Amino acid sequence: MLGFTLATASLHVQSSPELVGSPELINSPELSSSLEPINSPELIKGPELVNSLELINSLERHYSPDFDSAPRDNKGRFTNQGGDISHGSLPVRLGFYLRRFGTLFRSDNGAPKSVANEGSFLRDNSTTPTVTWIGHATLLVQMEGVNFLTDPIWSQTPSPVPPIGPSRWVDPGMALEDLPTIDFVVISHNHFDHLDLPTLRKLAARNSDTVFFVPLGNADLLLKNGITQVQELDWGETVSYKNTQIHCLPTQHWSKRKLSDTRKSLWASWAVIGSERRFYFAGDTGYFAGFKQIGDKLGPFDLAAVPIGAYEPHAMMAETHMNPEEAVQAALDVQAESAVAIHFGTFDLSDEPLAEPPLRFKAAAKETILGADNSWVLDIGETRQF
Ligand SMILES: [Zn+2]
Repeated sequence: MLGFTLATASLHVQSSPELVGSPELINSPELSSSLEPINSPELIKGPELVNSLELINSLERHYSPDFDSAPRDNKGRFTNQGGDISHGSLPVRLGFYLRRFGTLFRSDNGAPKSVANEGSFLRDNSTTPTVTWIGHATLLVQMEGVNFLTDPIWSQTPSPVPPIGPSRWVDPGMALEDLPTIDFVVISHNHFDHLDLPTLRKLAARNSDTVFFVPLGNADLLLKNGITQVQELDWGETVSYKNTQIHCLPTQHWSKRKLSDTRKSLWASWAVIGSERRFYFAGDTGYFAGFKQIGDKLGPFDLAAVPIGAYEPHAMMAETHMNPEEAVQAALDVQAESAVAIHFGTFDLSDEPLAEPPLRFKAAAKETILGADNSWVLDIGETRQF
């Protein structure tokens, strides 16, 4: 998300005290049952170990020789492949913040359409690969007999101090209660529109077996919120879970939830690969050379979810968010057969006209091998087979 957090972050209360260290959550017998493989049986029996991150990170992880681990700067903070990135000059950012406060009465004209989805097909489905756009960067994906979510957010206002913050143009495409059983969640980074603690707490409470995959440095935040099925990964690390290989991969972005934590936790994209389908989730990212490397090493993908919004003002966003043309290029770079557009039209985040990103995305894709048929702009709530 955007610099909005800078202004309000000092007011942020990170966790709900009533959930922190709650014994019934942390000692849940289901905690270890869904993690496979577990190499160290002693990790799941000792009550003295129940708060350790080793217990949480109990899936076997492998570094791939194809990708470098995430770089850090001379202060030990995570950085990007090309070093730190620009967020624009101070005047550019100040002007942006002032415009944000001036958009309270902006029209929702141009927001995505929404279709009703009460989820009965999805709850019964275990064989047809599908993708459903819930809104923003939240997708429900079904493949290989597993159900997973990307960057799930059901909140109305992603902010440290709601209701102050960028609010929704469109409600979530289906009710959280109507989801099928969620096997796992992948999270790209800690900005409030991507790591939504109220939603994560609900998902964990709904199914204690759901595993949350996060980039390095993010597990502690979830643990403090009573979410104990968490697996942290570095860029280039892979785990096997159920019928899939889950790969944590580079992006070009940053992280921040409060004044003092800039780039202390990592950001990432994710590939979920099975024997029948290969899916790529780009998360929140600027365009960078890493997409070609991901395509070379892990492509082709049947479907790539690429962010197409929050690209204006250019001077502030260019290195952290792709514009629609760059998103099409990213989909081509990772060798996607089809690309589905995400990260637009849901929250009031940036300066570009609300209707513009999908129009530019379709126009750019038409000129490429993707064409009109394989560049998808879904309605919010729409399910499509892939
Ligand atoms: Zn972000």
